[in-house]
Amino acid sequence: MEARINALLRRMTQPEKLSLLALTGPDDAQHLNTPPIERLGIPALRTCDAPEGVRDGTSTSFPMGIVMASTWNPALIRQVGAAIGEEAKAKGRQVIYGPCVNIHRTPQSGRTYENYSEDPYLTARLAVGYIEGMQSEGVAACVKHFACNNQEVHRHDIDVQVDERALHEIYLPAFEAAIKEAHVWTLMPAFNHVNGTWMAENKPLLADLVKTQWGWDGLAISDWGAVHETAPAALGGTDVEMPHPDHFKPDALTAALQRGDITQPVIDDMVRRILRTLARTGALDPPKPPDTKAVNSPWHQALALKVARQGITLLKNERGLLPLDKTKIKSVAVIGPNAQDMQLGGRWSADVVPFYTVSVLDGIKKKLPAGATVSFAQGCPRKDAGTSAGLAEAVALAAKSDIAVVVVGMDKDYEGEELDPPNLSLPGDQDKLIQAVAAANKSTVVVLNNGSPVLMDKWLGQVPGLVESWYAGQDTGTAVADILFGDVNPSGKLPDTLGARREDYPDWGNYPGNGTVVNYAEGIYVGYRHFDKHKITPLYPFGYGLSYTTFGYSGLTAPVTVGVGQTATVRVTVQNTGKRAGDEVAQLYVRPLASPVDRPVRELKGFARVSLQPGQKTVVTFPLDERAFSYWDVKRHGWQVSPGPYAIEVGSSSRDIRAQTVLRKL
Ligand code: BGC
Repeated sequence: MEARINALLRRMTQPEKLSLLALTGPDDAQHLNTPPIERLGIPALRTCDAPEGVRDGTSTSFPMGIVMASTWNPALIRQVGAAIGEEAKAKGRQVIYGPCVNIHRTPQSGRTYENYSEDPYLTARLAVGYIEGMQSEGVAACVKHFACNNQEVHRHDIDVQVDERALHEIYLPAFEAAIKEAHVWTLMPAFNHVNGTWMAENKPLLADLVKTQWGWDGLAISDWGAVHETAPAALGGTDVEMPHPDHFKPDALTAALQRGDITQPVIDDMVRRILRTLARTGALDPPKPPDTKAVNSPWHQALALKVARQGITLLKNERGLLPLDKTKIKSVAVIGPNAQDMQLGGRWSADVVPFYTVSVLDGIKKKLPAGATVSFAQGCPRKDAGTSAGLAEAVALAAKSDIAVVVVGMDKDYEGEELDPPNLSLPGDQDKLIQAVAAANKSTVVVLNNGSPVLMDKWLGQVPGLVESWYAGQDTGTAVADILFGDVNPSGKLPDTLGARREDYPDWGNYPGNGTVVNYAEGIYVGYRHFDKHKITPLYPFGYGLSYTTFGYSGLTAPVTVGVGQTATVRVTVQNTGKRAGDEVAQLYVRPLASPVDRPVRELKGFARVSLQPGQKTVVTFPLDERAFSYWDVKRHGWQVSPGPYAIEVGSSSRDIRAQTVLRKL
């Protein structure tokens, strides 16, 4: 491949080379390409959003990143990457702008739903699965947004002040895994600054760390307008400017060359990376006829549904209310602004247009036999408070029905790109609606259709059932109904800690910054690392999610000491101790019992999803490598293993440890 690239490069004129260094096309993200060079048979590199589906015409709308993460199933997410890759190919695209792997630092980020989790290990495993799947189809994934794009407010100019240890332990591991393990072909530098430097020109992080130290030979495509100066960006590691030539227009590049600010080898390296991406994606080979049947194929539809079924998370189920019995329920009141007008995500680049959607109302209607009534009342509008006209109707409906299902949540006016939700409350009168319905019907289940955590203090005590569906894609309603009626045993687990109060979250006091700077003062204590350190009881902990069956853990084994460079193999037996088949996500946390530096109470270092019939058991194996016992040493600027000892904790959530043992690391 390199010989082919070099041969092409030798034949290119300087204007041809310079023409490639910015995307062109109509100013709409759906048509962003590098220009073709027909003389040499170099086609356009055609790129497209989004991580949850191809944003070009109609496509399968997969569940958002937060739902993918809630499956804790990298093998399944690998299939999603492959499926989106197939649809991208069918639409003639070589690059998909995804996955999003920024850490959920604040619960108030407008793009929480696009990104996976508060935890770097979970994020990294999913990112690797997704990228490997997509690239197995010959479509380049574009891991984004590098790095620390953790809020949308002030995203274009905010300077993230983050310490070296937090960068390496929390914010970079998913990018590192994307590069070193999944060999991602493209990456998107973010809008923001990190420690005083724009990410598109961040030489220490992009050119030096990613390209040189990590040995990455892929293509860095800037975020939309994120390049601010020619030479600093080219030297900083950005190869292509999005959305059109501005700082990377030929005149500007030529002037920088003439001034000696950049050299020809820098330009040649940028061009080589474009040609490499074209070669990797097969674009330099004779075109194959597109498989248009791949788009929203029955297999892709089934896959989107499967992710929703595995990701949607049951958070509360009192008095055995769920699953509902289809043969006994005669009437269901489906209430709420998101019940019929179901939302797939927030605004802009992740807004995939599906061929169809199934709302929760549709899903429940399809589930019940003839003779049962399913009635609907919106209850209140999603946003505007004080319009209680519909409330009385909803309450009356709830009062005369066997079950009330209240579907509430957010939408594109509330979260998305450049739009952080103003607070964690459900917009409008939705809290009031839940309270009123729950007062009228003791069997009320709340279904959340949202992209980031919400506060539930106003009503949680009053409702026996709670399902977190996030933005679960085109078949959300089918999956929710499957779970409510027990056709699917819920198995989603939270990829984030849900706090009881806004002030319980780690960014409190350091979000959104002063407009110029945001200080990540909490350092490595993000997500459950913060809740554990400060002994704050979460509303629902990281890794939590209920099932209709129960699981037992036994027979945990681990080596007593782990030698240098050795992988420690930890085993535990998980058994389905209940009456229904179900999936469990066994989670392994490493807890240092002694350490030369301050360390989190526990950190996720392994997990496995298992499917078990009633009574069935299986042995789960977790391989722990050196990194599982390491911290980032700021004195040596590198990873450092410390001997511990370490408690190895295995359980059903970060706060539900079922088995533990102790080992030492050499
Ligand atoms: C977003 C990116 C997206 C790009 C192209 C930007 O505004 O931040 O995630 O890929 O636009 O649509």
